[in-house]
Amino acid sequence: MEVKVGKRYRVGRRIGGGSFGEIYHGIDLISGEEIAIKLESSETRHPQLEYESRVYNFVSDGSMGIPNIRMFERGFGYSALVMDLLGPSLEDLFNYCHRSFSYKTIFMLAWQMIARVAYVHGKSFLHRDIKPENFLLGTGRRANIVNLIDFGLSKKYRDFNSHRHNPRKTHKSLVGTARYASVNTHFGIEQSRRDDLESLGYVLVYFAKGHLPWQGLRATTKKQKYDRILQRKLCITTDILCEGLPSQFVAYMGYVRSLQYDQRPDYVYLEQLFKNLSEQLNYTNDYLFDWSIYRYTKTLVAEERKKPIEPIIASRENPPLTEQKRKEREQERELERHFTMFRNIKALTLKKFPNSFHFYIPGDTHNPFTDEILAQTVKNENLVTIYPERYLLAIDQGIAKMR
Ligand code: ADP
Repeated sequence: MEVKVGKRYRVGRRIGGGSFGEIYHGIDLISGEEIAIKLESSETRHPQLEYESRVYNFVSDGSMGIPNIRMFERGFGYSALVMDLLGPSLEDLFNYCHRSFSYKTIFMLAWQMIARVAYVHGKSFLHRDIKPENFLLGTGRRANIVNLIDFGLSKKYRDFNSHRHNPRKTHKSLVGTARYASVNTHFGIEQSRRDDLESLGYVLVYFAKGHLPWQGLRATTKKQKYDRILQRKLCITTDILCEGLPSQFVAYMGYVRSLQYDQRPDYVYLEQLFKNLSEQLNYTNDYLFDWSIYRYTKTLVAEERKKPIEPIIASRENPPLTEQKRKEREQERELERHFTMFRNIKALTLKKFPNSFHFYIPGDTHNPFTDEILAQTVKNENLVTIYPERYLLAIDQGIAKMR
């Protein structure tokens, strides 16, 4: 049976689920456009979809990076929010890139992420759940645009007209995601603009290092877990948190943590921190993210894998292999071939784009200077691979097609 929302939108397959709603792919039957539909059961204990749709009405005005809302409907047994269809989240892409992003990718993301947060704040709202899962890339022509989604926990922090800030309150329960929550949020202080930016700072460190020091702590209750996360956050100074990263990360964290409750953050200063460093490192904002480059690496690996490998002939082995053993051996060889190929083609890609792949070096405790980061370019250039020139050409053609 065909399920429709508002007579105009056909509900398709499920594409995601969050803590509050389920996301479905859909089609606009009039324009033929693909769209996304967020559904919430009427039986849910804490309904928030209607609230989210109202927040979207305030913050989404066709500006880049905030999805457009097509309609909200309260149906029989459910509520539905119809919006633009977006692409993968930054958490998905982080996994795709083996859980570490290069500095160039982080800086290109940081500008867009800071701009989105500043934009929402400009509309008098806080997001209150800044995390990689809530930043989604666009699709098609907008595939390089980072969108901010999920306004279910958002809150107005000042009067629309007078801009009078809400009073500072205490004893608030934690709203958002503990991993990225600011220290003041853990302490129960009413959130303000500084807290969204502190969370964003943790996200940037997470992207560079692959993890945060308060991840994976064991606890029996949620309260105990939150307490342990807070203890860690308090023990770790921003210098330690950002050790091994360029000093701009320390400056970012230091600045956001020093903001007063109702102070307007200097978003331009924060953007500029990373822009200046990018200039020093000769980066251009060309939207050539790590995942775009890896995508071609992976395509090449897939093509290579199609080539048959020499079969193992059981009778030549001594003692002869059973059918089962032969299959196992072949699978092992196939896996090994896959990893070797990936390593080699990746090395080739680094060689092709030596300047795009500068990373945090695990275990490094000092804040690297520009020339130390630039030294990674030379290392990338010197990578030797057994793969021939034709792969470099294929990467070139792939990238050219993408543009
Ligand atoms: P919740 O409020 O329940 O956490 P979200 O709004 O964060 O739900 O959506 C959950 C997931 O669904 C997202 O992480 C994302 O993967 C996917 N998703 C959400 N909105 C869209 C969209 N407009 N287009 C494509 N996928 C989406």
